[in-house]
Amino acid sequence: MCPVCGLMYVKSGGGSHLCTLCRQKKYAFERARAVFCYNDEIGKLIHSLKFSGKKTGLRTMAVLAQNSSLADLSSPDIIVPVPLHPLKLKSRGFNQSLLLAKVFFPDQKAKISHCLVRSRHTRPQTGLKGDERRKNVVGAFLVREPERVQGKKICLVDDVFTTGTTVNECAKTLKKAGAASVEVATLAMVVKQ
Ligand SMILES: [Zn+2]
Repeated sequence: MCPVCGLMYVKSGGGSHLCTLCRQKKYAFERARAVFCYNDEIGKLIHSLKFSGKKTGLRTMAVLAQNSSLADLSSPDIIVPVPLHPLKLKSRGFNQSLLLAKVFFPDQKAKISHCLVRSRHTRPQTGLKGDERRKNVVGAFLVREPERVQGKKICLVDDVFTTGTTVNECAKTLKKAGAASVEVATLAMVVKQ
């Protein structure tokens, strides 16, 4: 795997090494880890959580998360779920990243902060290509009360790490507001062939 972004290599020959993007220091976050490699079953689980509000798998996920590579991440000062736009939050009724933050850090719920907000509505990243994904989220986030993140070690939480574009934009925004470091915890990472 890549020790920075957590990208898993399908053909494991040379052991762990930096991926191309991390060699170019492409990401604003320090490190990313996921509980699972994305597959159809995990996709269904995330879909039923996001779109049907089915929270039945969460307890199992909590156990698996405690025994996953999330353990590589450092202990955060604050935990920040990737926010939904207020309109989307209203229609969905919950933020799946907030649910996952509670699942990943069951003993640290008091550290969860809603300081990061979406400043504008964005299209879903699904179906967009690399450059379109970047353009779609540029400037989409802002930090409310930046003094809450200044000098802090932050753990961002999201459901899926596909190209890292969304969490990278969040990390950039948090760093600009003065965060000392940003790490990323997701439920699943898409493995590239
Ligand atoms: Zn990498």
